[in-house]
Amino acid sequence: MAEHQTVGEAIRAAAERLGATSDTARLDAEVLMAHALAASRSDLLLRHMRDPAPDGFAALADRRAAQEPVAYITGTQEFFGLPFSVDARVLIPRGDSEVLVETALGERPGARRVLDCGTGSGALLLTVLANLAEATGVGIDASAGALAVAAANAQALGLAERARMVAADWRLPDWTGGVDGPFDLILANPPYVEDDADLAPSVRSYEPASALFAGPAGLDDYRILIPRLPALLAADGLALVEIGHTQADAVAALGAAAGMASRLVHDLGGRPRVVVFS
Ligand code: GLN
Repeated sequence: MAEHQTVGEAIRAAAERLGATSDTARLDAEVLMAHALAASRSDLLLRHMRDPAPDGFAALADRRAAQEPVAYITGTQEFFGLPFSVDARVLIPRGDSEVLVETALGERPGARRVLDCGTGSGALLLTVLANLAEATGVGIDASAGALAVAAANAQALGLAERARMVAADWRLPDWTGGVDGPFDLILANPPYVEDDADLAPSVRSYEPASALFAGPAGLDDYRILIPRLPALLAADGLALVEIGHTQADAVAALGAAAGMASRLVHDLGGRPRVVVFS
């Protein structure tokens, strides 16, 4: 079959099939085809639509039809304008988290020392460092797999000399793994999803549970992490923590109990997304 199909026909057929499970079926099909051809999506659309469809495309479309995220299939996700390698060891960076980076850069353009708690792919730390030429940073994560992905991303982005990735689990008493403050910026996108949340199958079946779930109210990690922030934060430092949209009051209260003032930043959809502690 694929033998006789053009790229254009194969994309159309896949888009129709993927429409059953994806809201972005046509885009998914185009991105996967571009990946199969090792072409950019614009080259694909401008130059390759009448070429014969490549053999590899069908297997990629099958994976997407089983609801695997496109980013895991292609192995890459853009975040804040930079390409990040991703695989099932890390959460896929979300556009929603870009507001955290934007706020950090806007409010602390002179930051020199940056800590990212639960760095995953390294997306938050590395985009901040890429935009602050004088800054150095530490990314901590409890997952060795995540640290390997983050270190590879630091290398690929030319930031390895300014970004150190450190194994540390804040659920343990010696959690910092020797990381010492003070930090001008602390970033965190910890797990904050309720254990029984109604997540899309593409998320629940494929993304790492350890990066998503944080107890019945999704607050377990905040309860441990937030009280530990003041000891790591510089006197005029800021800690920016991503939250689920119903968690603003609970997270602000945890900060207040630890002696920190807080402010809310909303995402593009107008939902509370980041708590800024000072
Ligand atoms: N925003 C993620 C989601 O869509 C959750 C990220 C997290 O738990 N840190 O599920």
